[in-house]
Amino acid sequence: MLLIKSFPNLKQLFHLTSLRVRLTLGIAAMSILGLSGVVMWISWQMQSILVVTHKNNTRYIAERFPSDVEIYSDMVSLQEGTQRAIDNLSDSQTLLWVKTPQGNIWAQSQELKMGMRGSNLVSLTDIPPQPDLQRVNNRYWLLCSTKLVVKGVHLGDFYIAQDITKDQTMFLRVMRSLLMISVMATIFMMIAIAWYIQTSLTPLKRMSRMTENISPETLGNVQIQLENAPSEVKELAQTLQTTLTRLSEAWEHQRQLVSNVSHELRTPLTVVSGYLQSTLRRGTNLTDIQREALTTASSEAERTVQLLQDLLDLARAENGGMYFHLETIVLNELLSEILGMVDQYPIPVEICLPEQLIKVKGDKNRLKQVFLNLIDNGVKYSHSPEPIVLKLSQEKQQAKIEVCDRGVGIPLADQTRIFERFYRVDEARSRNVGGTGLGLSIVKTLVEGMGGTIKVISQPHQGTTFTMLFPLS
Ligand code: ADP
Repeated sequence: MLLIKSFPNLKQLFHLTSLRVRLTLGIAAMSILGLSGVVMWISWQMQSILVVTHKNNTRYIAERFPSDVEIYSDMVSLQEGTQRAIDNLSDSQTLLWVKTPQGNIWAQSQELKMGMRGSNLVSLTDIPPQPDLQRVNNRYWLLCSTKLVVKGVHLGDFYIAQDITKDQTMFLRVMRSLLMISVMATIFMMIAIAWYIQTSLTPLKRMSRMTENISPETLGNVQIQLENAPSEVKELAQTLQTTLTRLSEAWEHQRQLVSNVSHELRTPLTVVSGYLQSTLRRGTNLTDIQREALTTASSEAERTVQLLQDLLDLARAENGGMYFHLETIVLNELLSEILGMVDQYPIPVEICLPEQLIKVKGDKNRLKQVFLNLIDNGVKYSHSPEPIVLKLSQEKQQAKIEVCDRGVGIPLADQTRIFERFYRVDEARSRNVGGTGLGLSIVKTLVEGMGGTIKVISQPHQGTTFTMLFPLS
């Protein structure tokens, strides 16, 4: 947890939905399965070879022993013959003994007799007829028993014990080494696979990085170039590039259409608005109903003309066609001028100016448009008579202008979106106060066009502050 916290990329590194993690885990699982299959098969084969050799040896002794006893007993007594046959077939690894049907020892290897080793084997009761590997006192024994019949007489049971501890220990050591090598090979393979997959997916990551910052404005300039990428990824990049080009053309057409329509509609609507206003001014014999209808028509026409003007301004800014007549402006004077322009507003406007003069490079008319637009909003979205305050100050090498109101405020979720075109926090309320939803996007375009920045801080029912920063002249 701590590790993941200190390396946030680790979270991404082990994200189970990522193609890299899935491919690595999938291939690693298959490799581990394959490798462990091979290891198991090798171990099984080695074990079989080892045990089968000793089993054959055991079987050979079991088959030969009765005839040996028969041959020796022709010369000496049966018991003596059995003992000689045992001595003949015993060696350092092989212990033999014969028990009478009553369970007494009839003859046995010298080592057993002298109690040198394997003495506890004699007391074992469950020795099977087929050679079986058993661990007795930390040693590995291949044990088997068979009925001893000599000259048609059942003498008892013949037991064979082969000590294969040395071979078995060596086999286990080899298996342990094989296991360790397999684990190391698996770890190495996983690292190699992860690296290989990571490298193979790099072109996809590059493509995602190239496209993550695409916006409508930059659609046409995007070039997705992928050198040394696999052909499938190149094909995908090509498709994406074609789609982006088509989108860019469609976007351009749409922008052109909005611009042309706004332009074509603005002139006749301005004429209509002019006629309506002059009719209202000069019409002395208008009834109240007629006057009211004309007033509504006139204000709607004016609002639409304003909307068309805003759309044209935005279209011009996007086409790079908005020109700024930059000059040195003393903001203290400009704000005082604006104060004079808004003294008839329903809500009082106050300004707070510093003693020193603050100068910026900007377009006077555009700056006025920005400040008036923000003051207008302050008036539109305030229900109390609390004044709107314009504050000017200097912050580091920047001029800071704040427009503060004590109005309805903007919810946090909407604060990042209010600069978008046609975005309104409360559609019904905004329409009532005559907004178009374009004001703030024009303000932002103008401020940024003059090298400044704008941000908003607001609290519902407390008020809103728009803060602009411009580089000092
Ligand atoms: P509109 O023409 O609708 O006012 P704007 O782009 O100027 O469009 O503003 C977008 C939205 O931001 C408005 O609809 C309004 O909801 C909200 N808004 C802007 N300024 C303020 C303010 N000073 N106080 C509260 N809300 C505001």
